[in-house]
Amino acid sequence: MTAPALINAFLAAIEGISWTQDNHTLSVKSKDYFWYSPLLQQTLGDKLGEVLVKPRDQAELIRVAAAACKNHINLTVRGGGTGNYGQCVPLEGGVILDITGLNRVLSIAPGQVTCEAGMFMMDLERAVRADNCVPGGQELLMYPSTRDIATIGGFVGGGYGGAGSIRNGILKDPGNVTRIKVVTLEAEPRAIELVGADIQKVHHAFGTNGIMTELTLSLKPAVNWVHHIALFDGYSQALKLCVAATDAVNRSVPIGDNNTPNEALLDAFLITAVERRFAPFYEKEFGARFPANRDAVFSMIHPDYLPQWRDMVEQHGGLETMAMTEDELIAAGIPPAFECGWNHTTLMALRQDRSWTNLQTIHAWPLDVAKIEEHMQRWGDEVLMHHEFARDHNGPVVFGLPLIAYFDKERLYEIIGGFEADGCMVLDNHVYTIEGGGMKTIDTAQIDFKKIADPHGLMNPGKTEGWQDDMAVPSSAPAA
Ligand SMILES: Cc1cc2nc3c(=O)[nH]c(=O)nc-3n(C[C@H](O)[C@H](O)[C@H](O)COP(=O)(O)OP(=O)(O)OC[C@H]3O[C@@H](n4cnc5c(N)ncnc54)[C@H](O)[C@@H]3O)c2cc1C
Repeated sequence: MTAPALINAFLAAIEGISWTQDNHTLSVKSKDYFWYSPLLQQTLGDKLGEVLVKPRDQAELIRVAAAACKNHINLTVRGGGTGNYGQCVPLEGGVILDITGLNRVLSIAPGQVTCEAGMFMMDLERAVRADNCVPGGQELLMYPSTRDIATIGGFVGGGYGGAGSIRNGILKDPGNVTRIKVVTLEAEPRAIELVGADIQKVHHAFGTNGIMTELTLSLKPAVNWVHHIALFDGYSQALKLCVAATDAVNRSVPIGDNNTPNEALLDAFLITAVERRFAPFYEKEFGARFPANRDAVFSMIHPDYLPQWRDMVEQHGGLETMAMTEDELIAAGIPPAFECGWNHTTLMALRQDRSWTNLQTIHAWPLDVAKIEEHMQRWGDEVLMHHEFARDHNGPVVFGLPLIAYFDKERLYEIIGGFEADGCMVLDNHVYTIEGGGMKTIDTAQIDFKKIADPHGLMNPGKTEGWQDDMAVPSSAPAA
């Protein structure tokens, strides 16, 4: 809890900038989607920020950063607040910095866009599609399944990959994000430009080492993707199609510096396998398109490759139940295919039954389909299977996002142990630190950058295990 005198001094210093201490607003804006995890719900449910500030532009943001630093108040940046591990939950109170007022496109050129960090990705996608510097417009290389409610700064600060990762890799792959402007939390905030590999210093750092204000991202020519559903008599058949599709995309579409031969086999933006026990959670939106007696593959396919895709689906014994563009889906009131994959599968289930939770796994390539069948036998109705097919610059990757019938912590970690014993990496989504989740080890380059961008250790405290109190430069904050 911050001393009231310091909060008052902070508020005086940001006069003219929008802020609130309304209890309801603070309660809502101190949360993200950590409630997916019963364990995080227990740990984070009562954490609260003390004042929410929403600057309108970069000049106002700099005043907020300076005022927080001078008064030694913690500051947690918040974009859409859709992170899953309490990434933007202020563990130690202080300022919640709502970044969504920084929502401008700064420039669009062939192959790249520069924008402010608080832009919602849907707005960004619309803007680059509408701009004709490339005839027909351009598109983002990837977005999370929360595209419509998450910001680009939040995606780079807390995300990993998503729809588009089958085609273009994950966020950290070279060339996907090419420049980030970061404002430091100092009495006289500075703007630091990170380019090339240096962007990794703030990527997935949970807003602990500087405030991203601008990003430059690579683009490709826009494609009017066909959102597709194919049904199968068994989950193994669905998975085998996904493996074949991933291999085909990998051999057809170059990624980064990888000079894969262009065999023109398949081009896709999303390849998702969801087993039949998820179908009841999709019934309202999809009805007979995903019935409870069939397993599904949701995909987004390049229209030029639809005939090849239909052949592949047929060869794997699949039945097409949907092939529509995003505009057609909107007109029909049906969600896009990317909202049927990634972490949206869990959301579909949780909307109906809060007793579920999930896990995040990474599987070796080529995928061992028989092992997944064995897991389904072993865990029965306790674990429901869902897999995402993607690539990084090293080649194909398969992510599992299984739904887990939560019993207790001990059982959850027994199941995690079962996945790990079978060679799957588990990115623990039931912890809130960077290292406890996906990163596993302390990223010393990120900590070194924190010493520069947040020398007093005020940003989102408690989220990185690499920062020790004695690293903080003593502050000359006024006595409370
Ligand atoms: C249903 C569902 C589906 C999801 N699907 C995916 C998916 O497909 N892929 C994926 O990677 N993630 C996914 N996520 C997680 C999350 O939605 C994404 O990572 C999203 O991009 C986060 O954006 P946000 O604006 O909501 O970020 P927030 O939750 O607001 O912030 C995320 C982190 O970034 C920091 N941050 C935000 N803005 C800045 C900034 N300007 N400067 C510095 N730090 C900042 C915050 O402090 C926080 O630590 C999903 C989550 C849900 C609930």
